[in-house]
Amino acid sequence: MTETVHVIGGGLAGSEAAWQLARAGIAVVLHEMRPIRTTPAHQTDGLAELVCSNSLRSDDAEYNAVGLLHEEMRRSGSLILTTADAHKVPAGGALAVDRDGFSAAIQKALEDHPLITIRREEVAGLPPEDWERVIIATGPLTSPAMAEALKTVTGEDSLSFFDAIAPIVTKESIDFSRAWFQSRYDKGTGSDYINCPLSRDQYYAFVDALVSGDKVQFHDWEKDTPYFEGCLPIEVMAERGRETLAFGPMKPVGLTDPNGPKPFAVVQLRQDNALGTLYNLVGFQTKLRHGEQTRIFRSIPGLEQAEFARLGGLHRNTFVNGPRVLDATLRLKAQPRLRLAGQVTGCEGYVESAAIGLLSGLFCAAETLGRDLAPPAQTTALGALLAHVTGGGHADTYQPMNINFGLFPPPPERDEKGKKIKGRDRKKLYSMRAREDLAPWLASIPAAPNDRPAEA
Ligand SMILES: Cc1cc2nc3c(=O)[nH]c(=O)nc-3n(C[C@H](O)[C@H](O)[C@H](O)COP(=O)(O)OP(=O)(O)OC[C@H]3O[C@@H](n4cnc5c(N)ncnc54)[C@H](O)[C@@H]3O)c2cc1C
Repeated sequence: MTETVHVIGGGLAGSEAAWQLARAGIAVVLHEMRPIRTTPAHQTDGLAELVCSNSLRSDDAEYNAVGLLHEEMRRSGSLILTTADAHKVPAGGALAVDRDGFSAAIQKALEDHPLITIRREEVAGLPPEDWERVIIATGPLTSPAMAEALKTVTGEDSLSFFDAIAPIVTKESIDFSRAWFQSRYDKGTGSDYINCPLSRDQYYAFVDALVSGDKVQFHDWEKDTPYFEGCLPIEVMAERGRETLAFGPMKPVGLTDPNGPKPFAVVQLRQDNALGTLYNLVGFQTKLRHGEQTRIFRSIPGLEQAEFARLGGLHRNTFVNGPRVLDATLRLKAQPRLRLAGQVTGCEGYVESAAIGLLSGLFCAAETLGRDLAPPAQTTALGALLAHVTGGGHADTYQPMNINFGLFPPPPERDEKGKKIKGRDRKKLYSMRAREDLAPWLASIPAAPNDRPAEA
């Protein structure tokens, strides 16, 4: 009999991780604090409760990165995905579920598994030393005692309690006949930033749009969200005075537009991932509604056709600086017996949290069995997401991220006849390549004798 693994948190990630461990023949204790102690967002004591929308987003595996992630999770034997399929409700191209049936079925599967014990208790601090292998999957609303414990392991600066997210766009959607590469006063490499120029009229129209744009209100329990001076929402800065941004994040100093006259203001974008496929709008964290963000930010010259890998936001959210504190298989570098899973790693969304739970469970299972399991290729959705939280994202600007094709290494830009591959054809290239590259990794997953992954 192998040792017991402790999984803390019975949300989407913890439930998936516990399932993957038990499938591999490993005994698991799953610790869930509800109903003894609840979070401000959960309403029930069910495992894998969906705290808000009942949608797991697009189920289109050809042209959409989250649909591709669904498919890869199904192929990996995910409990969350197969249960979602069984409790699906009509939702067009999306995978939406009957939330109560979904949570009840996951809870039953875990309760019925002979290798899983569920304990309703809070783990209120660092797990005891004699728990040799632990997965912490306590989510965006991790209990304060566990958050404090994580802070002691990761360090003060590596645990966030709020996200303050600036929009991120794909580099390939930026119009470089308007935008140009340059750092202020040519510092660094001289071309570390992408700059978008605004004339005086464009700037004032932009400021007015920010001030009048429709904003998201905080939940009651989020109302004490602090605005740090260093990361004020862009619209709050704009409300302080029409010139504030022109003297702040949009100041045009130290920059020369090679394509036109001296700009009145500039929007700067900074590289957001190691691949250089994503750029964030520097200083543009915002609580504008998503539709408003797309409308207003596409009025910036150079971003008219911008494809947003993620839109901005400000929420309560507990997460570590993954690229700084996690190793390639999601262990805390400072205490490798502790592995993280779910949103606390800095991924974002139900599906992504469950996917990171799946990977954490599989890595931990392999390690417990004394076997090796390498990360999936970065060309797959699972691999791209994992790479983002464990090193692909930039540690200095790390913010939670949904899966999107911007996290994948770009496929060739042209076909064999030299024709540019664009739009849907390009998305299909990503998904076809991912499909092929996942197969060898699936075959490498160590499994219990009578529980082989679907494709092995
Ligand atoms: C208000 C809100 C709305 C959201 N809406 C959406 C949405 O609509 N769509 C979407 O895709 N994503 C949404 N998310 C983001 C996120 O994907 C979900 O929160 C998702 O549930 C995260 O999965 P998880 O397993 O990491 O955390 P959770 O599902 O939150 O699970 C964590 C579990 O750990 C338990 N726990 C915490 N601390 C302890 C402890 N010390 N000991 C024992 N148990 C503990 C909690 O009770 C909880 O059950 C939302 C997040 C929030 C906060």
